[in-house]
This record gives sequence, C-alpha cells and structure tokens, in this order.
Amino acid sequence: MDYHSLLTAFVLSGCGLAITFFVSWLVSRTERFLIAWELGVLGMALGALVYGWYGNTMSPVLGAAGFSIVLTGLALVFGAGRAFLTGVLPWRGVGVISVVSSAATAIPILAGYNGAGIVVFNIAAALILLVTALDYWRGRAEARLAITLLTALYVLSGLSFVPCAILLLNAGEWRLDAIPSNWTETLNIGICLITLAGIGALSVALNQARVARGHKRDAETDLLTGLLNRRALFNHIANDIEGPAAFVIFDLDHFKMINDVHGHLAGDEVLRTFGKILMSSAPPQGLAARLGGEEFALLLPGASSAAAAQLADGVRIRIGERRFSGSGRSFTSTVSAGVACSEDAATNFETLIRDADNALYAAKRNGRDRVAVNSGEIETLAQSRSLRDGQRGPIDLVRARAR
Ligand code: GH3
Ligand code: MG
Ligand code: MG
Repeated sequence: MDYHSLLTAFVLSGCGLAITFFVSWLVSRTERFLIAWELGVLGMALGALVYGWYGNTMSPVLGAAGFSIVLTGLALVFGAGRAFLTGVLPWRGVGVISVVSSAATAIPILAGYNGAGIVVFNIAAALILLVTALDYWRGRAEARLAITLLTALYVLSGLSFVPCAILLLNAGEWRLDAIPSNWTETLNIGICLITLAGIGALSVALNQARVARGHKRDAETDLLTGLLNRRALFNHIANDIEGPAAFVIFDLDHFKMINDVHGHLAGDEVLRTFGKILMSSAPPQGLAARLGGEEFALLLPGASSAAAAQLADGVRIRIGERRFSGSGRSFTSTVSAGVACSEDAATNFETLIRDADNALYAAKRNGRDRVAVNSGEIETLAQSRSLRDGQRGPIDLVRARAR
C-alpha cells in the first residue's frame, strides 16, 4: 500500500468513527467526552484530507490549515480522554494546546520553512498523544485491561511520529518541494490507521461498560438513602455471601406518627439520617440496605449474633440521640431491631429473615427502642461489660422462632 492510499483509508476510517461516536453521544448525551471525541476524530480526518490536498499543491496556506486542523483534533481527543476520566471537559486546556501547537507549526510553514513546520508538527502530535496516554494510565483502575490496552495504543501512535521528526531533522532540509515521503511516514500513517480503529473501539466499549455499570448501580440503590435496596441485598446474599452471617432487621418506631405529626419531609429526613448511621456503622464487609418504607437491614458476614446485637444496639443509641425538626418542633426517633444468625446465610436465607423478623416483633412487643436476639448465644451477650453496666440498653432473649 502506498502512502496516499493509507492516508485516504485514515480519512475514511476517521469519518466512520466520528459517526459512531456521534450516534453514541445521541444515546447518552450527558457523556460530553463522546462529542469531544467525535469532533477530535473528525478534525484528524479533515486535517489529513487537507494535508493530502497540500501534497498536490504545496500551497503554504493549505499546509498550515491541514496541520492545524489535525493538531486541534488531537487536542480534542486529549480533552475527551480527560473528560472520560475526570468528568470535566478541559476546554481551556484543549484551546491552549490547539492554539500553541498550531501556531508553532503554521508560522514556519507560512514563512516558507515547511520542513521546520513539519518537524514541529510531528513533535507536537507525539507529545499530545503521550500526555493522553499518561492520563489513561493514571485512570486504569476503572478497567485495568481495556485502559492498559488503550494506553499502549496511544503510546504507540504517539511514538510513531518521532521517527518522522528525527529523519527530517537529520536531513536538515527546512524548505521542502514536496511533502515528506519515506518509510517513517508510511509507518506513521499505517500505525495511526490501526491504533485509531483500536482506540475508537475500546473507547466506545469502555463507555458502554460504564453506562451499564451506572444502570446496574441505579437499579440496586435506594434513592432516598443511597443504601442498597431490597433486591440488591438479596442478590448479594444469594451470589456473594458464603458461610455464617448475622442478619439484623431495623424498623423505626411509630414512624407513621412522625409523618402525621411532623410531616412527610421530616419523616424523609429521619430515614436519610438513619441510612447514614447504618452505613457508617456497618463494617467494611457488611451490607446495609433499606428493605422498604422504614425498614432497614444489615448483613454481617462472619459475625456472631452477640456481635451483631452490639452493633445494632450502637445504631439504636445513635439514632435515639439525634434531634430532628419538623412542624416547628424538635423531636427524636427510636428504632427496634431483630437479630438472627446462620451457619450458612445464603442457603438458609429465608429462615434467617424469619428469625430476625420474629426477634424484631418481640422487640416491638416488649416496648420498642430495643434490640432482640433470636439465638442461643444470649449468655455471651448478657455477660458483656457494656450490657452489665446498663450502658447499652435492653437486649431481650427471644426463644427461637417464638411468636
Ligand atoms: P411500628 O412502631 O409498629 O413500626 O409503627 P410504624 O408507625 O413505624 O409502622 P407502620 O408500618 O404503621 O408505618 C410505617 C410508615 O412509614 C407508613 C408510611 O407512610 C411511612 N413511610 C414509608 N415509606 C416512607 C418514605 O419513604 N418516607 C416517609 N416520610 N414515610 C414513609
Ligand atoms: Mg414497618
Ligand atoms: Mg415502624
């Protein structure tokens, strides 16, 4: 394949990718990096087209325009990478890179030193691509394999501009009668053609994966509290939990009355606050969820019912200490909790929920604002110092499956 065929293939491939990115952007318009990428690729394709034209005419204006458009496209691709990784499109940075690199390339070309201009272009293109590669490398934690591959492709395309600059520098020809045509140029356009397709496909795939993760997260999250919802908790327990675990169900006391007396918004504030308390009380391996309404749950892998009851009681105390305001008055809220434990939580999950639920009802029956445990480990619990000292409030023994 000769240089011009490769250049034409690059232009066509760039246009195809630009269309792909435009359609992806139409589907998820909040992702502004897609539109920056689309404009960037379009710029590179258009710039390459103008460069081909420059090769036929050797008009300095066309040369300056072609290189400037390619560099602006590269600056946009850099901006798109930043936007993908940080969520913010650095318009100012893109503008500065575009203007500085374009001016440094175009001025020598317009002054008749097209050889010097092309050297500057190759160095600028290499630098922009390598900086973009560095950005992706720093953000590789999101999807190690795909982003490492993307980084490698950016490095490869950036490095492919270096031999072009070196060869021109060695030749020392600052005024060229024709565009450079040698093995470095063919290698450069060939590599760019391959990496453009690879980078395009990987970027679209990464975005799709991110969108899918976002949908999954939304479907698993309770909107009001940010905790897992019931479905997500049950899925996690079925799929990710092995071995023994304790389960705690919390139910806010007389919550209907809080709504009736202080208003629904005040009720929502209590729910949000309880969600925060639960989240901050859960150990790293624990799962905190809102089961619905004013019911919450905590799954504690590996925890004994005594440890779970201690933790639940801590939550009970923390919510009881909070003051809320609604309908011009301040008020407090209390919670009751039921604890159960299983040697194999995933397999016996239904029994575990029923046991915790029975304990919860017993806590309600026995006066609310307390934690009840449905297990044989109550002795251990009753002997714990904080309980003996009465600092932790009442913990009731519920005979297994009582009710
Ligand atoms: P108990 O102590 O026996 O648990 O009494 P309760 O009043 O807490 O229980 P009940 O089941 O009668 O009332 C629950 C209330 O929770 C009724 C419902 O309006 C309210 N609720 C459910 N979801 C929300 C919500 O998202 N926000 C608000 N503010 N209230 C909610
Ligand atoms: Mg309830
Ligand atoms: Mg309730």
